[in-house]
This record gives sequence, structure tokens and C-alpha cells, in this order.
Amino acid sequence: MAKDPENAAIAERLEAFAAMLDLAGASYYTARAYTRAAELVKATPAPVAELVRAGRVRELRGIGPGIERRLAELVETGRIEELDELERSVQPAIVGLGRFLGLSAKRSVEVAKALGAATPEDFREAARAGRLRSVPGIGPKREAAILAALEREEQPRPRRGLLLNRARALLEPIAEAVGGVVAGDPRRWRDSSERLAIVSLDNDALDRFRHLPQIVAVVDGTTGVTVEGVPVELVVASPASFGTELLRATGSEAYVAALEPLPAGATEEEVYKALGVPWCPPELREEPHREAPPPLVELADVRGDLHCHTTWSDGKASVLEMGEAARERGYEYLAICDHTPSVGAVPGLSADDVRRQGEEIAAANEALAPFRVLRGIECDILRDGSLDLRDDVLADLDWVQASVHGGQRMPARELTKRTVEAMRNPYVRCLSHPKGRIINHRPENALDLDEVFQVALETGVALEVNGLPDRLDLRGEHVRRAVQAGVKIVVSTDAHSVRGLGNMELAVHTARRGWATAGDVRNALPWTEQSARTKGV
Ligand SMILES: [Zn+2]
Ligand SMILES: [Zn+2]
Repeated sequence: MAKDPENAAIAERLEAFAAMLDLAGASYYTARAYTRAAELVKATPAPVAELVRAGRVRELRGIGPGIERRLAELVETGRIEELDELERSVQPAIVGLGRFLGLSAKRSVEVAKALGAATPEDFREAARAGRLRSVPGIGPKREAAILAALEREEQPRPRRGLLLNRARALLEPIAEAVGGVVAGDPRRWRDSSERLAIVSLDNDALDRFRHLPQIVAVVDGTTGVTVEGVPVELVVASPASFGTELLRATGSEAYVAALEPLPAGATEEEVYKALGVPWCPPELREEPHREAPPPLVELADVRGDLHCHTTWSDGKASVLEMGEAARERGYEYLAICDHTPSVGAVPGLSADDVRRQGEEIAAANEALAPFRVLRGIECDILRDGSLDLRDDVLADLDWVQASVHGGQRMPARELTKRTVEAMRNPYVRCLSHPKGRIINHRPENALDLDEVFQVALETGVALEVNGLPDRLDLRGEHVRRAVQAGVKIVVSTDAHSVRGLGNMELAVHTARRGWATAGDVRNALPWTEQSARTKGV
């Protein structure tokens, strides 16, 4: 009898099943059940095959009769007939191409069938020969769109940029599975990724890449398309030129082009050395330059987080839970900055709420000392530049963030006037997400940053680098201008949950893209020095 499959192998088949069900258009919950079963199998210490043989596998919570039946078949015969059948009928390569062309999974298979195309190559050939017109339901407009997409296929790009956290979460496990490292835009911590790449030294990398559950098709030799339709480029390098290939695949294109021709090097350090250029952190590889980098701020420099929410407004955790989590991250302090009433869509704190929250924060401080939970607020800036809470309420607080939420579309003059007026309030310490963008949803506002920098220098108000993945505001270019003007920044998470505190990494790397050093960052200071640095100093 054949050896029992190991848990990892069983999990891999369940993941493949989930991917196929998803492509075949099964309900989200059905596909999800298989993904969860795969996670469960991976996390189970005992050999799952033995549990299956003993008829005990349903003791694992989340394994129902349907999954049990398929597991029994897998252990018994080494395969799952229905999965093989799905792989034949769903045609992952066709579906992968179809996703790229903007067709649903079902429609991709229908069109391929009507064209008599068994492979993506057949599909492309038939389309270019003008045969799409003969497919029922495809008119001249649709045909033109598909042909245009096929032209773009030479350099596949996602339809719009992937958020940084999603891009890294997508690439990291793929890189690990093919024995490679993350490159492309995410390695530079670009706020929105269009070029996703992995560089590997491993000769089997391409083969493993093809068989990953995340990759449904390889469209032009080395570019895989994920289930979500995102292209991922795989570069297989020789040991002698790994550094060169990594540098090239990291980009930006303009930065690399200005360094070409690149010498061969096993590491990036070797390549830079041969070029006679100081090593450059990936975050600074946007515009071409050959400068020596300053000592950029690091995550370990951050002493506290100055912007987070709790259940008092729209957060998911209590004051104490957020404080504990921040202490566990090694911070010395955390400012609780819930919303004020004018924010509208979510609950905001009145003057009375602020006082009552202060009592809760005092109790948390007793439990967490010497860690400090700071009494803060994210106070809305009203349309006339006044603040949403009275000065005597703000005066009691340790840290006041001022934020524009409504009225982002005001013309530059009005919005800037409104903002700097709020910055001149004696209790405001930091301006939140100054440019107000939501990546892929809302463009930046018209705020005049030069004027804001001027007022920041006069008043001592810091500017936030907000670490929410769809904000990252200020962005790198703006941080650089702020730092050059001598304005201090604060790296914050704007966390709405314990997990959200982890976005500090995104804020720090965004600050690094702006050439910021620890000296530019207010919350790289201990709180005692921070609070002593009163406004205007
Ligand atoms: Zn806000
Ligand atoms: Zn906030």
C-alpha cells in the first residue's frame, strides 16, 4: 500500500480544490469551507490521514461530511476524482487568461469552447484571426476590448494598483514557496503596486510557481496570474548575477535605467560597489540619484503610537486592550484619539464623553504603568476652521490630532485657510492625514502644503504619516518636502483594532520613502521629552 499523504500534501489538494471551486463559480462559502479545511489540516499536529482511516476526522471542527468523503478518497486512492474533473472542465489556464481579459470564469470557458480553443495560445490565435465575432454574444465593441487587452498582455499590469499591505501579503508566501525574495514595487514600499516580482536562485522555481494554488495560469513564460487576476513576474537568476537581477526587478524603471549598464554581482551590495555608488535602500529608489542615503528612521526607533481608536468611537477594542497591545509591541506610550461628533458616520465623543473616557484611561494607566496611555482626541476641523470641541475640553488632553473629514473638495484657498486656522489653535499638536486621499477611491485634496509647512514651523504642529493602507498620507514625496522644510512628522497607525497597530510598519516605510531620519519623527522621542516640547518651541 502507498504511503499515507502528509498533512501538507492533503492541505495542498484542499487548497487546489478551493481554487477550482472558486474558478468554477461555486458559492463563496463552499470554496471558503475548503480553504478553511486546508488551514485546519496544516495546523493539526497529528497525521490527518490516520484520523481519516480511523473515521475520526470530523472530530476536527470545520470538517463536514462532504469534505470527509473527499479526504477518504484522497487517502484511499491518492487523488480526488472530482478535483481532476474540475481541473479538466474549468481549464485554469483559459480562466486565468480570461480574468486578465475581463471575462468571468464561466464566460472564458464558453468563449474558448466556441472558438474551439483548448489552450491560451489557441485562444489568442483565434481572437487575432478575427474569429471572436463568430462567438454568440460578442459584438464589435467587446471584441475590440478583448483585442486591446491581448495587446497589453505583453506587459501585464493589474487594472489598478494593489494596496501595499495586500501586495506584500500576496507576494511573501509566493516568494517563500519558490525559494525567492520579494521585488518590484512592494520591495520599495510603494503605496500602490503595479509591478509585482519575485527573484529566485532556484532552478525549480518556475515549476513550483506554476503549481502554486495562488497562480491559476502562466501567461507569457514567466508571468503568473493569480486567482484575483494580478500578474506576478518570476525572475530566475544565476548565483553570479542574483544581485543584478534583484536590483533590476526592484526598480523603479527610471532609477535602474540611470544606473545601467549594471555589472554582474551576486548581491546588490556587490553591484553598487562595482558601480562606485553607495548602497541605496529600496525605499529611495524612485527618482534616479547616486547620493549616499541618510540613516533612515526604523521601526525600532518608534517609542509610541499617537493615533488610535477604541470602542468609544469606531474602534473594535477597549482602551485597556489597545494599551496592553501597544505595550506588548514594546512601546512606551499610546494616545487614544477617538472621533468627535461632527465626523458624522460613526459615533463621536462629546465633552462629557471625553471626561468619562479620561476616567477609564486613568484606570488603564494604573494597570499598565510605567506604560502611558495618553488622553487624546481626533478632533474634527469644522468648515470655518474652528474645532469640534471647546478649548477648555482640549486643554485637559495630552495629545490633540486635528482632522478634516467632511469637505475635502474645497478649493485650495478655503481648505488651506480652514486647516491653518485649526493648526493655530494652542492645543492642536498634529494634523492628521493632511491630503485626505483614499487610494483608488478619492484623490488628494487641494491643500497647499507649502503654506501648511510654514504654519507648522511657526506653531510646532507636526504632520502625520498615517499608516492606514488605503491612506499612507502624507505620502513619500510629501514627507520629503516636509523634512526638507524642517517640519516634524509623526508616524501613526490610526488603528481601529489591536491588529491595526501592526500598520506602523507601513507608516515607517512611507516616512523612509521621504528620506526621514529618526530626528525628523516626533514619536521617536520618549513621551517626557515629547510633552516638554511645547508648542512654538
Ligand atoms: Zn481621520
Ligand atoms: Zn483616526
